[in-house]
Amino acid sequence: MNKLVSIVIPAHNEEENIIVIVDRIEKVFDTLPYRFEILVVDDGGTDKTLEVIENLAKAKDNFFYVEFSRNFGHQPALKAGLDYANGDCVISLDADLQHPPELFRQMLEKWEEGYDIVYTRRKEDKKLPFKKRKTSYYFYRLLNSLSDIEIEQGTADFRLLDKKAVKIFRDFKENDLFIRGLVKWLGFRQCPIDYIPEARFAGASKYSVSKMRKLAIQGVTSLSTKPLHTAAYLGFFFSMMSLLYIPYVVYAFYVGKQVNGWASLIMTVAFFGGLQLIILGIIGIYIGKMFMQTKNRPNYIIRSTNIEGIL
Ligand code: UDP
Ligand code: MG
Repeated sequence: MNKLVSIVIPAHNEEENIIVIVDRIEKVFDTLPYRFEILVVDDGGTDKTLEVIENLAKAKDNFFYVEFSRNFGHQPALKAGLDYANGDCVISLDADLQHPPELFRQMLEKWEEGYDIVYTRRKEDKKLPFKKRKTSYYFYRLLNSLSDIEIEQGTADFRLLDKKAVKIFRDFKENDLFIRGLVKWLGFRQCPIDYIPEARFAGASKYSVSKMRKLAIQGVTSLSTKPLHTAAYLGFFFSMMSLLYIPYVVYAFYVGKQVNGWASLIMTVAFFGGLQLIILGIIGIYIGKMFMQTKNRPNYIIRSTNIEGIL
């Protein structure tokens, strides 16, 4: 029997894209010696996505879906896909056709060569809106400068994971997931593939600049405690500086130089007040994460599905 490949697709208001992507995936597998199943995770949308996938599930016996009780986000949707996929390997991709299914062949070849994780790198694409390219560029810059794990430019959640990597993900109890970073952290034998993304087929991007910023902060703080170390170094640096300043202040006092300090006082108070608030904020983010994690809530809640044994 041929090996089973699971295709995981998170979808949030993608009614016009689902049929097209399923069609293209089927075409790709027509020429490949694998069995495949498609698992769409409906992440609490407001359009007809659910209706479309329910109909597909009735018509095809290798089509599965999971519907969330509300919008939990892209990363929890991916996690759900990994939790319920049965394949010998799992390929995840976006529903909007920016990730071409035609790349599966190459990914599966690499997998057969013995790589456990085949990830993809988006090449600089002039077709993408300028703003998207820039936000994406700074997203990775920020991420890499603030955390310990290096994530390459343009690695989205379009990748193949071997069954053994998928199984590890199932045991993750992390509340705020940043799968891109976790994949890097896992290790295993990883191999990149470059591709040029296509334009979004229909609908609008669900990632606004503010969502990207949130994802970046989440990425940094879920991957490392480097911001805390940076805060400590900053504190150390400025106390050293003030130590150097003390002799000057004493000297100025005794030698009777005119003390004319209003401007410098306000400046220091404002500057260090701000700095302290920033550092408190950083500590606060980590404490907030601990608070959320101690509640131990699930990453997502399933409202309906056609997979047996879940509900
Ligand atoms: N997505 C999701 N939940 C969300 C936002 C996005 O499941 O809250 C899905 C979306 O349907 C798509 C993928 O995540 O399949 C990537 O989203 P999008 O294409 O909007 O992001 P972009 O490509 O613009 O970064
Ligand atoms: Mg997209």
